[in-house]
Amino acid sequence: MCQNNVFLGAALDRSRAYGILGIVTKPPRPVLLLDVDGVLNVPRTGCEAVRLADGPYAWSFNPVEPALPFLRWAWTHFAVHWLTSWRNAANVIAGWAGLPKITALDADAGVSGDWKLEAVKRRFARRRCSVVWIEDGISPAALAWIGARPNFRYVETDPFKGLTTEHIRAAAEFAHVPEMGLGR
Ligand SMILES: [Mg+2]
Repeated sequence: MCQNNVFLGAALDRSRAYGILGIVTKPPRPVLLLDVDGVLNVPRTGCEAVRLADGPYAWSFNPVEPALPFLRWAWTHFAVHWLTSWRNAANVIAGWAGLPKITALDADAGVSGDWKLEAVKRRFARRRCSVVWIEDGISPAALAWIGARPNFRYVETDPFKGLTTEHIRAAAEFAHVPEMGLGR
């Protein structure tokens, strides 16, 4: 019996040392759902596009000014998921930024007729963590669905201007993560 208590005590010490109890109580990382066109990618006159890949899967990318620091900041502080018609091909942008590939959400249009909303519902409807969705316009059904969920925040960009520091600041504030340092 006494020996069992010794083993139990040692196991507890080990769990504390490895931070296991800390992991249990640590809040989950906030989620960032990220569109490409009209957010990161905005064609502008006088700006040359970045060619991200060759061959039949060539993608022309016109990164908005804060794209690179934003992506590095986002990958650090959020669990980021692509939510874009680029689907998995958006990972060429992650490669351009020197970041690891992430998952791209996908779904059928479903009852709402909006595949992005269906993808969000399927993956995050039961989650209680902060979820920030950055897009250049979502459907009325998506707006209504998000509006009923206080842990969700929709950040809307202008499709002709894309992501700005104000949008990034709004995402940081809602998710309670450090603001992006533009100088880095
Ligand atoms: Mg878009």
